[in-house]
Amino acid sequence: MIIKNGKIVTPKKVIENGYIEIIDSKIFSINEGSTNLEGIDVNGAWIMPGFIDAHVHGGYGVDFETGNKERFNVFSKNVAKEGVTKYYQATVTNSEKDNNKYLTEFNEFMKTKNKGAKCLGIHMEGPFISKEKKGAHDQKLLIAPNIELAKKWNYISGNNIKIITFASDLQDGSFTKYCINNDILPSVGHSNMEAKEFEKDYLLGIKHVCHIFNGMSGVDQRKPGLATAALNYSDVLVEVISDGIHINNEILKLIYKIKGPEQICIITDSMNAKGLDDGKYKIGNLEVIKKGMTVKLTSNGVLAGAAATFDHNVRYYKKTCNIEMIDLAKMTSSNIAKQMKLKDTGSIEVNKLADIVVLDNELKVLLTIGEGQIIYKK
Ligand SMILES: [Zn+2]
Repeated sequence: MIIKNGKIVTPKKVIENGYIEIIDSKIFSINEGSTNLEGIDVNGAWIMPGFIDAHVHGGYGVDFETGNKERFNVFSKNVAKEGVTKYYQATVTNSEKDNNKYLTEFNEFMKTKNKGAKCLGIHMEGPFISKEKKGAHDQKLLIAPNIELAKKWNYISGNNIKIITFASDLQDGSFTKYCINNDILPSVGHSNMEAKEFEKDYLLGIKHVCHIFNGMSGVDQRKPGLATAALNYSDVLVEVISDGIHINNEILKLIYKIKGPEQICIITDSMNAKGLDDGKYKIGNLEVIKKGMTVKLTSNGVLAGAAATFDHNVRYYKKTCNIEMIDLAKMTSSNIAKQMKLKDTGSIEVNKLADIVVLDNELKVLLTIGEGQIIYKK
């Protein structure tokens, strides 16, 4: 396959007019100029690395809690419309018994070949989080980080748990070590800690913070919290929900100014109602109302996951901070690929997987290619 006449965003530079040759699942060559070879003419559109969503609960009527082999595939097919080529399936807080069941279903799905974007595993968000910053997680089911449970769940999932978000102040460092020693990315979030409490686990190797500013203690001048620590530690990657709803524009600018394009990864945190009509839905056991891109708990009006698409969040962050395309590609793809040690994806380079999104000049998705196959075409 050849994709030609595009502005190619490579890690080092933007090729103003070039073409990419794809053989099987991989990028075979990246070339400047035009070609007479037959291929897909993208007419000056942007060619970017496919987006990687490290934190997505669902959309299009599917989520972890209601998924099965077929339904997970419905999600993986639909999310390709957003330019996503790889993602981590996020969970909410569930009972032990429910998680056993859901993880069994998920394991079955992971044995199949995804029809659209490729799922790379689980991002477990809860139950190891704090009551004070629970967000849309069921308070009755919250518990302190528990190695035995994590081990059991990871076994049931087929060793597919790749990220665990937990309140690191609720454990003594042993849970952090468990994650690191088992190739699970420890991610700090949903915590009411004071900023200085972050250091203990940072020194053990924690370098990831779950959706900064959402579900955490913030930037108070006398009682700085987790958001402050996440900003202060320059080599900590922060997830950002840049939908324009979860974080005010001035804070989006502040995060960008302090962290820079190298230490941000855009996520959606979207839930099952993304892509569906407005109305009442459920997150785990809790009822929510979706209106446009906003989802709130019916009981208390707290924001409960998101309903914006990945490409929306990309456009929104770019517009708010006037981000260069080469930097944007780090925030959508390569930063999280590095964080997850994915050597074969996350950037447009020879020999990497052909995970590519083609975007028009307004950054709307025209074409998504996952591992050399067209998985969405407008
Ligand atoms: Zn989430």
